Formats: sequence, structure tokens, C-alpha cells
Amino acid sequence: MFTKILIANRGEIACRVAATARRMGTKTVAVYSEADAGAKHVAVCDEAVLIGPAAAKDSYLRGDRIIEAAKAHGAQAIHPGYGFLSENAEFAEACARAGLVFIGPPGSSMRAMGSKSAAKQLMEGAGVPLVPGYHGDDQDPQLLQREADRIGYPVLLKASAGGGGKGMRVVERSEDLQSALASCKREAISSFGDDKVLVEKYLQRPRHIEIQVFADTLGNCVYLHERDCSVQRRHQKVLEEAPAPGMPQDRRAAMGEAAVAAARAVGYVGAGTVEFIANQDGSFYFMEMNTRLQVEHPVTEMITGTDLVEWQLRVAAGQPLPKKQHELAIHGHAIEARVYAENPEKGFLPSIGTLHYMDTPAHVAFELGGQDSTPAAVRIDSGVRQGDAISPFYDPMIAKLIVWGADRAQALARMAQALSEFHIVGLATNIAFLKRLVEGQAFATADLDTGLIERNHDALFPQAGPAPLGVLALAAASLLDGEQGIRPSANPADPWTSTRGWRMNGHYRRQLSFADDYAATTEAKAYALGVTYHPKGWTLDFGGNKHALALVARDQDRLAIRLDGNAVQGTVRREGESLHVFSGGTHHVLAWEDPLAHAGEHEAAGGRLTAPMPGKVVAVIAASGQTVRKGEPLVIMEAMKMEHTISAPSDGLVEEVLYQVGDQVADGAPLLAFKAAA
Ligand code: ADP
Repeated sequence: MFTKILIANRGEIACRVAATARRMGTKTVAVYSEADAGAKHVAVCDEAVLIGPAAAKDSYLRGDRIIEAAKAHGAQAIHPGYGFLSENAEFAEACARAGLVFIGPPGSSMRAMGSKSAAKQLMEGAGVPLVPGYHGDDQDPQLLQREADRIGYPVLLKASAGGGGKGMRVVERSEDLQSALASCKREAISSFGDDKVLVEKYLQRPRHIEIQVFADTLGNCVYLHERDCSVQRRHQKVLEEAPAPGMPQDRRAAMGEAAVAAARAVGYVGAGTVEFIANQDGSFYFMEMNTRLQVEHPVTEMITGTDLVEWQLRVAAGQPLPKKQHELAIHGHAIEARVYAENPEKGFLPSIGTLHYMDTPAHVAFELGGQDSTPAAVRIDSGVRQGDAISPFYDPMIAKLIVWGADRAQALARMAQALSEFHIVGLATNIAFLKRLVEGQAFATADLDTGLIERNHDALFPQAGPAPLGVLALAAASLLDGEQGIRPSANPADPWTSTRGWRMNGHYRRQLSFADDYAATTEAKAYALGVTYHPKGWTLDFGGNKHALALVARDQDRLAIRLDGNAVQGTVRREGESLHVFSGGTHHVLAWEDPLAHAGEHEAAGGRLTAPMPGKVVAVIAASGQTVRKGEPLVIMEAMKMEHTISAPSDGLVEEVLYQVGDQVADGAPLLAFKAAA
């Protein structure tokens, strides 16, 4: 076994690999960019090497520097994690030339599977079922048009070198093909340096089911069953679970054997995933093979009682697979939710900023479960801590929340509970959205397909409403109780300096004012609460009604109150003038209008259209001096895996375009000067 490995990655996967290495007595070397000097993965590894500036291409993608660092620090092997260099055949081969073990498959397997088109050709030969489509080398746009017309719409365009849901376009009509092709090729070249695309029939209501495979250097190859990753947005996985609901044992074996055949066909070694797309009737087609460890591998670990990173290290060291096929049974049910810094209400736009506050449900960091023991109910794999920043340079993932249950119902209940205990202040997150998703009818009843989120859009994105009374009462109780903590007198019985609102005659009354901006487009909604103090609580006067409020218990930010005789619980975190109220899986931000503080002035953005986030300009559609109509696309930016179109807010005139294609722009930077028509 290796005595020291270098981890050529960052974030949660680097921390995850380090945890197993530590358990196995293997030392770890971290690499980091200038943006990550204070990152968690640097802290959890034994040694660390700075490899370059923030941009991944200058740091985490610099294979030469990484190899140099591994040699300088005496590592024998390199674990690439996922993303970055994990599926880069040249890097794997460069490691070998430098006398280092690349913890992953041989370069030849990666090349065979790296191109979706070439992989499909190979699988066709091996008799694995394929989605009807075109995956030839001839890329003439007219030929692609004819092929798409032949296959029949809707079709899906996919970057042949693509991954992570990037470089894909659904085309509904023949006349839309050419523009989608141009946009797909643009994204493909910028993301993968290769603009080759393939065309596939776009299946209706398909499920994404993938098989975890593992092969060693001694000729053994097993499957560790399936994961269902059907719940996606923009073709990116949101929830993953194992086993797949409703999977009959014979189909599981058939898919597992097809996956092993695919792995064997390319001389595979190590951890890999064979992805299938399945129709509702159960028929399945090969989609692609990912030649690395997947983000969602923990659900497989939870139900099989394995540590897949340990398997990777053992296989890379030349040892046989720890288990045989018949020893790999399924125990219980596991679900993973990807907690992201993003704004689901704004088209899942990534959110950049600092995690000012992060309170997680009780969990383990990483633990083996499985056949012989009961796994932990909740596991969190995360690469960030409270106080860390989510930067525009890398994936905005905050954590993977993984739960295990004896069956799916128990796992679901645990997931809903864990999500309601996951509180973050500082950035927008998808936590409340995830909770609605796991509690929604479709996921709860396992009515799964890749269109689940879109199909249930109205239920998943409810109209934001005013803060409910319980939320206002939690905020009020937190403020009022907080003030009582301020006790200027040394004598706690002294009524003259108490802040309990004691008055010689009658009860002290005051007003609390809150505001929120749930109706983001209009001005903030204001809430005025009359407060009357009593010896054991307060009366709230809100909207003409009186409500009895008392604080029952408080543990720092966590409060239990009684409101009109009902128990209400929640967490109230104060950040400046903002009160973040977490209750029952919801997160309300209330601005407390402290009568002693001045209200800030809002400055209008003037006639400038600004960047919604830091990113790169990939297309400038409008020209200076051009008259445009409302909704017309003006500039396309790319940021964090997605293209964002900046459109005209109204009819008007583009006075000046301030950036060119290729320019990097900062968050909030004016992109163009725009004058609305009178
Ligand atoms: P990537 O490598 O970017 O992850 P995949 O080829 O694995 O791309 O596809 C990602 C997702 O896109 C799938 O999980 C599925 O939801 C959807 N998808 C892919 N091919 C099809 C298809 N032919 N019909 C319908 N949906 C598809």
C-alpha cells in the first residue's frame, strides 16, 4: 500500500479522499490555488503545495505542476477526484512516465470512453443497446440537420466530449436546429476544446439509472448495483438514490452484467460508472461511461457497506477487489441531496459569497455502513466550513447531504428532517427547494423521470408569500428576549434598570417593525407588530388581532416559543439588521427596522445593464446604437457552467456595449448603457 498520495483536487472530494487515506494510514499531499490557501482540503491533508492562481486552468488543471509537486513531496500515487484531470488520458499517462501511480483507469480506457460518439460505436459492437441517433465523424451542419430530421423531433444535441450536463441542447423543431447547433458547439469548444456533437432521439419521461462498476488489475470486475439519478435540472443531478425504486432483481442483474461487459470491453481498471437511460417500461440504453469516481458514490457506499475510495487505493496498489459479486448485497436505502449555493427561483443561478453561518444537522463526516452494521442515519461530505467563501472560480457546491434508512420511506423522512435542520446565512441556497422536492408527491411516490422538476414546477416553486405569523413571532421573541439579556444593574431584582418593560402603572407597549422583500420586484413588505409586555411573555398585536407569545426555551439561536397556546420552534440568526428565521424547512429574511438606525438609501442602477454574477462574455448580440425590443437578447455570459442571456428590459436603445467576447466581467459590472424608449 502507498505511504503517501497526492490529491489533485479540492473541495469535498479532496476531503473525502483524505479521510479514507488517514484511516488507512496513508499520508496525503494537498494541492491548492491562490484562492484556496485557507480551504478545508488544505487543512485536512498532511502537506500542501500551492500550484497556481485561482483559475482552474492555471492551477488544478496544471498536470505538469501537480506531477512535480507529487515527486517533490515523495508521493507514490495521485488521486484525481472527479472533474479537473480525472478523465484526462494524457495526464494519466504522464503520471506513469513520471513513475507515479494514477489512481484510476488506464489512459486507453479513458480514450475509448472519453468521446461519447466513439464509446457508442464501441458499445454498438459489444451488443449493448443504444438510443437511436447519429454519432458519426462527419459534422457537416446539413448532414446533422438531415440526421435530426430522420430521427424525428425532439432530438438532443450532445457535445461528444461533454460531461456534467454541459454542451447539451434539446431541439423541438427542425427550424431550430441550426441555432441550437451553433450554441452547443460554442459551449463545447469553450468547455471541452472540441466542438464535435452527436444527435440522439430525445426520450420522453426517461429515467437516469447508472451502474457502479469496479475492476482490478487481476481480471476481476464486479457491479455494485444501481443508482437512480433521475431528478435533474438542466441535465445536472439534484437527488440521487440507491437502489432504484421499483427495480426488479432480474433487470438489476441484466443492467449490471451489461455494465461489466462495457467495462471489460475497454480493459477497465478501478471505479467507473456506466450510465443508462431507461424508459418507464424498464427498457434501457447505454448513454456513456464515466471513468472515475462519481459525485454520488456515497449512496452506493451506504447500501453496500463499502468504502469506494479504499477500493480505489487497493486496486491502484495492485491488490484484488475486496469483495466478490455474490458478497455484494443491498442493505437498506440511501438518498443524496446536493446542497448548492444557488438560487432556484432565479433559474438556479449560482450564488457567490461567504458562508457567514452554517448550522448542519447531527451527522458523521464519513462512515462505513452496510451489510453487517447499521450505517449512520445522516452523513455530510463537505469541503467548506462556516466562514469560507463560495468563489466564482469553482463549482458552487456547499455539501452533499446523504441519508440512510432501513427502507425508502425512512430515508425520505430522514432527508426531510435533515434539510430542515440545515441552516445557511450569507448566500442563496437550494435547501428549501430540496425540501419541497423530497416532500413533493412525485418524489415521495417515486414517480421518477428526468423531467420531474419541470413537470412539478408550480408545486416546487410556490409563489412567495408574506412571512407567516409564526416566523414574525420567532423573530420578535428572539429580539425581545435578547434585550432582556442586557442587564445594566448588578441586582437582577432591581426593576429600574431591568429591560423587561416593567412599568409602575400598567404594561409597557412598543412597536416592532420588520420588512422583507418576498415580492422582489416591488418594494419591501412591511410588518408592524404591537408588543405589550407581561411578566411571563408578551401580547403581539398584528393585523388587528392579539396573540399570546411566550419564550419556552432558548439554546443560543434555537428558540422554542408558545404562540396562542401552540408550540413553535425555529432558529433565528441575526446578521446586522437582518434576522434569518429558519422554521420547518423555510428560511425567511426579515429586515428589522431598528428605530435607532438609519434606513439605507437605494441607488437606482441608472441606465446600465449589469452582470448578474462574475463570468465571461461569450457572445455580444446587440451593437452600440441599435434599437431593440423588450426581451431581445443583448449579451450572453457564461458563468459557472451555464450560459446566461442578458435581455432588453424594455424597448429601447443600446447606447454602448462595454465589453467584447472573451472579456471577464465582475459581479454587478455594467455590461451596456441602455436607454429605455419614452
Ligand atoms: P453528461 O455526460 O453531460 O452527464 P449524459 O449523456 O450523461 O451527459 O446525459 C445527462 C442527462 O441528460 C441524462 O441523465 C438524461 O437526463 C439526459 N439525457 C441524455 N440523453 C438523453 C436522451 N436521449 N433523451 C432524453 N434525455 C437524455
